[in-house]
Amino acid sequence: EDDDNTFVERIQTEDGHVQNIHVYQVYLLGMSGTGKCSLMRQFKTTEYRGVYDYSSSIEDDPDNTVSIMLDGIESRLHILTMDIDHVKSSVTGDAYVVVYSITDRQSFQTALQFIKNIRDNELIDNQSHLKRHAPIILVGNKSDLVRKRSVTKEIARHAAFKHSCKFIETSAAINDKVDDLLAGTLKQIRINQQIRNE
Ligand code: GDP
Repeated sequence: EDDDNTFVERIQTEDGHVQNIHVYQVYLLGMSGTGKCSLMRQFKTTEYRGVYDYSSSIEDDPDNTVSIMLDGIESRLHILTMDIDHVKSSVTGDAYVVVYSITDRQSFQTALQFIKNIRDNELIDNQSHLKRHAPIILVGNKSDLVRKRSVTKEIARHAAFKHSCKFIETSAAINDKVDDLLAGTLKQIRINQQIRNE
């Protein structure tokens, strides 16, 4: 059974088969200036790019959709990019990619606060038997700016662990680890869906 957030697109392949492609909702969040739009631009050029053209159901928003071929299965991520101050932590997606800049401690604190709020909300929902525990990926962007670093890897990794999040440092500027972030996000979503369907 599919989740409310998840929908399936039916694609007619070249040899006439019908294939189901899952479309997942991903929130790409972080303070303004942390590099969300730059990451999104790099996502669009991923080496994991899928093979099927977008069909009608998402034609209203092809710019924010990335097709990914991972482990032989194609999926789509519909990525909603937002400045973190404008987002309620009660929003529900299949995954959250929460970005800070390694040069900006304030953006790290803001990212952590948001993650705490999401986990607190999940706790409340779980008490009312509405179980959900979405994958969250904490992303330290601008890893190329080594001399301006003000958030250490150790502190960030520890914080991520504490809140059951994945952690990765990326550079949208030199396209470092951006593909790993994209594939890792899809992988986390698939693992999460599997667990819930069991
Ligand atoms: P957004 O407000 O979160 O969407 O951030 P943008 O993607 O607009 O990036 C804000 C600024 O940071 C721009 O000047 C980008 O060129 C720069 N930027 C984004 N990612 C990186 C990165 O990985 N390294 C460096 N050095 N600059 C970056």
